[in-house]
Amino acid sequence: MLVFYPEKCTGCRICMIVCGFHFTRSLCPSVSSIEPVRFESIGETATIKLYKEDEGKHRGCDLCEGEKGYLCIEFCSGNAIVWSEKN
Ligand code: SF4
Ligand code: SF4
Repeated sequence: MLVFYPEKCTGCRICMIVCGFHFTRSLCPSVSSIEPVRFESIGETATIKLYKEDEGKHRGCDLCEGEKGYLCIEFCSGNAIVWSEKN
């Protein structure tokens, strides 16, 4: 399972870009399964939301089916996402 450390999140939103790319093969972060929820005024991430099912524009996370790895983990600039076998 994906495990999140919001205190390490820089707010770069690269995770949203790569996740959107996974689903659309284009620049479409709005469909991302992952979404950092930020307090921009104080520069902190409150939580990192994972959509497990389709919701609005967001696609449910399919754990990067067909990719060589988990793109959000691979590209996260803050090491704020890790994989854990525990659930
Ligand atoms: S594992 Fe893949 S599909 Fe799931 S949130 Fe991360 S980038 Fe998106
Ligand atoms: S890529 Fe990592 S550091 Fe950047 S917004 Fe997403 S979770 Fe935060």
